[in-house]
Amino acid sequence: MTKAPEKKRFYSEGLHFECTGCGACCKLGGGFVYPSLEDVGFAARHLELSVTNFSKTYMELHEGQYVFKNDGDNCIFYGEKGCTIYDGRPSQCRTFPFWSANLKSQYRWKITEEECEGIGQGKLFSRDEIDDIRNQTSQTPSGPDPKLLMENSD
Ligand code: SF4
Ligand code: SF4
Repeated sequence: MTKAPEKKRFYSEGLHFECTGCGACCKLGGGFVYPSLEDVGFAARHLELSVTNFSKTYMELHEGQYVFKNDGDNCIFYGEKGCTIYDGRPSQCRTFPFWSANLKSQYRWKITEEECEGIGQGKLFSRDEIDDIRNQTSQTPSGPDPKLLMENSD
């Protein structure tokens, strides 16, 4: 069977991005970080906490789903020097700005660029690398099932 030709994307030649650590994406302005159950385990291990302790301390229910608590308008993990769990941050953060919604069109990417100063700088990500990251974001569930989280006590 012949492979269908790849759809032309505005980022076919790749996109430059390098995080400057400015923290703009951690100032959530009413938004939330939705970690998957895997992300919760990852972040809890990073802080050497049990999943239950981590969840009780840093998470809350929002419209039936567990999210990271916000501290005012910022994510609770946002500190003076940026993300305090950087190596344990969830996939929502690790995959930014290469989210499907941001890559939908050049126009959407331009809007994202206004929010993220790392876009246009540093490493050139190839189309394949971008699509790999983009595909990870579409598999990211929007928050763990609260029941699963509370049953997971290690
Ligand atoms: S807004 Fe962009 S450059 Fe700033 S911390 Fe977030 S990803 Fe990095
Ligand atoms: S987990 Fe870290 S990178 Fe993600 S929003 Fe919170 S402070 Fe920012």
